[in-house]
Amino acid sequence: MLIDSHCHLDYFSEAERPGVFARAAAAGVGGMVTIGTTVEQSRRLPAIAETQSNLWCTVGIHPHHAAEEPVPVPEDIATLTSHPKVIGIGESGLDYFYDRSPRDVQQAGFRAHVRAARLAGLPLAIHARDADHDIAAILQDEYDSGGEFSFLLHCFSSSRTLAEAAIAIGGYVSFSGILTFPKSNELREIARDLPADRLLVETDAPYLAPVPFRGKRNEPAFVAHTARVLAEVRGLEPEALADLTTANFRRLFRKAA
Ligand SMILES: [Zn+2]
Repeated sequence: MLIDSHCHLDYFSEAERPGVFARAAAAGVGGMVTIGTTVEQSRRLPAIAETQSNLWCTVGIHPHHAAEEPVPVPEDIATLTSHPKVIGIGESGLDYFYDRSPRDVQQAGFRAHVRAARLAGLPLAIHARDADHDIAAILQDEYDSGGEFSFLLHCFSSSRTLAEAAIAIGGYVSFSGILTFPKSNELREIARDLPADRLLVETDAPYLAPVPFRGKRNEPAFVAHTARVLAEVRGLEPEALADLTTANFRRLFRKAA
């Protein structure tokens, strides 16, 4: 059984979702996490998560939206996790590729989410794009000054240096459909080399559909294609890779019952 550790099911209509869930189940996907991108949107996710026993959600503000609302108070974000279906914080992080929010605002928001993750005792889903240095620096600074928190680098497409820095302080790394793209040789080498107990898989649906669906709308069922490539680079049978990544998911997202 596979788990899609990061998707955006609120991008699918209510009428589309039963089909999405059925195709996921048929593909061996036994769990999904739908991800918060603004506070208002995050408040609507538990209702979606309640429709399926194997669906959970997170709460947080995506760096694209960081400037649209005040920098969140960590306690407020942590409070929003009291719902049993909310099993993580995020996604937050830094996106210097699109730069849709000023960088200092993104950084303040990212730190607030790290603190919320620590307060809630739940993992933080981190979005990192063209911001390796600052992601690593903030993670290390927060770890040194405030102590441990759990997190994953979602939709990993960053440098080996960032992956190793994250793993050194207890982080996990989640691979998306990017892993299946022909040009992702360097990414596959990183995926081959990271510690087995820190690997997760995800779709980031509706974005970034894996080969052979590249360019189409992505959905949780397609995580099986990313998992197949990860199994190949790790030299594992698909079933063993599924067991491994699902065990990792359960260790990280321990509130997922
Ligand atoms: Zn993201």
